[in-house]
Amino acid sequence: MNFQPRQEKLREYLATTRFDGLVISHLPNVRYLCGFTGSAGLLLVEAGANTFFTDVRYDTQALEEVKGAEVVVANKSPWDAAAEWISERRGKARHWTIGVEANHVTLAEKKRFNDGLPTKVRAKDAPPQVERDRMVKDDDELECIRAAVKLGASLFDRALKVLRPGTKETEVAAEMEYVARRAGAEQMSFPTIIASGARSALPHGRASDQPIARTGFVVCDFGVILAGYCSDQTRTVWVGEASSEAHHAYEAVLAAQLAAIHAVRPGVTVAAVDSAAREVLREAGLDKNFTHSTGHGVGLEIHEAPRVASGQKQILQPGMVITIEPGVYFPGRWGIRIEDMVAVTPQGCEVLTSTPKEFLAV
Ligand code: ZN
Ligand code: ZN
Repeated sequence: MNFQPRQEKLREYLATTRFDGLVISHLPNVRYLCGFTGSAGLLLVEAGANTFFTDVRYDTQALEEVKGAEVVVANKSPWDAAAEWISERRGKARHWTIGVEANHVTLAEKKRFNDGLPTKVRAKDAPPQVERDRMVKDDDELECIRAAVKLGASLFDRALKVLRPGTKETEVAAEMEYVARRAGAEQMSFPTIIASGARSALPHGRASDQPIARTGFVVCDFGVILAGYCSDQTRTVWVGEASSEAHHAYEAVLAAQLAAIHAVRPGVTVAAVDSAAREVLREAGLDKNFTHSTGHGVGLEIHEAPRVASGQKQILQPGMVITIEPGVYFPGRWGIRIEDMVAVTPQGCEVLTSTPKEFLAV
């Protein structure tokens, strides 16, 4: 993984700020910057050095995994260890300001950290710079994401073999998750969604013990984590004899999804991608039933920047990986969602998800 250029980029950012150092505590950001995959670790980034703090449970793992930083193993929490380390070495001659990740640090953590620092050193809220950097994936990351998407897609083949009226939603999910683990997935990106009958109208209908209905849509939204990177895809299938209304709505969602994919290219805003999908559904009279945003970034986290939603000004750049997932929902009746992951390329975008998405009745 390209830890050195990532650390270098953050250091260049640091030079443009009022901060003397940044404490990175959000674990996906820590992993992104130095490779640590454990559950307790902080990275202090300064102009001339990086220092990683962990506790004794992770001494071996930290020494193996952490790249580009001196490792400090303490028999106390990483926050306390960092405060002590900084107190001994920094802020003696002049005032020091340490940026902490405002979106991730609790008030209690920040207070305790400040309480442990000398009065000349203060922790202040810093903007989410690592998340901004993480929006554009490097080649190593794209390779990991491709592998995760490929494995994730294979789960749907299994779902189609077992998805029948009477089978419980949880049984379908279990079959898919078994395939995932057998193929090396670390875990699922999120609890698998298998939502049939009226439950398909719930955008986040986790698999329940309800049997698949005799007729109606089944929304299958699922993903795996492989080598740290997430996949995310949705397919909606019809069970039984399809009505023309159901067919028509499905075709509208598919057209909206294709229109949004067509809109993805460098230089356009994420809001423009969102409105491309929304416009197609408006023409079909279904825009009121499209109740969520069109997509989100995916990488080390299942939901990361940018949000592909109206009002969002983020401009797409090559290397960004986002989902395109319009859906329509009729509460109490049914719902449809189609979701692919796409990577922004210099010319437009590459659809990473290979599963067919034509209307399918089983
Ligand atoms: Zn999804
Ligand atoms: Zn998604």
